[in-house]
Amino acid sequence: MGAPNVTAPESFQTRGPAATAALGRRLARRLRRGDCVALIGELGAGKTALVRGLAGGLGLADGRLVSSPSYVLVQEYPADVTVYHLDLYRLADPSAELGDLGLDEMLADGIALIEWADRAADALPRPRWEIRIDITGADKRTFTVRRVG
Ligand code: ADP
Ligand code: MG
Repeated sequence: MGAPNVTAPESFQTRGPAATAALGRRLARRLRRGDCVALIGELGAGKTALVRGLAGGLGLADGRLVSSPSYVLVQEYPADVTVYHLDLYRLADPSAELGDLGLDEMLADGIALIEWADRAADALPRPRWEIRIDITGADKRTFTVRRVG
């Protein structure tokens, strides 16, 4: 009661993918089992680059395991908590198929990081984290982070 539904957004800028990975490791400290992170941004924005950092911050030793799960739809990383990496880009009906993919089960034991999350619109769980990525230069990205209640 009284808590705001949506927290004020925070904004971060990075220059190059290594800085984005470092931001991801930092933001990972806020994440807990059961959290869902919606990643929103065009192709090449840096969603996967950020996931590499988030997964690293959650204890995944080898960042090379992280790649866009475009073909398998879900990848699972053995971090301190299980990290599920989803990509909704190729789904015909993302909001309907999210349940089929087993998102509820994933959130029961792990953390879900979802690329192209805007494609699922209202089917995404609440509360959730939302990270919007804007391309602001050849190697510059702006990240807007908010908690949606
Ligand atoms: P997405 O998953 O959003 O399609 P990727 O993370 O796969 O994007 O790719 C991001 C691309 O942008 C990579 O080629 C990366 O080298 C480049 N890039 C340039 N600057 C940055 C930055 N600041 N952060 C993240 N990626 C960047
Ligand atoms: Mg990607």
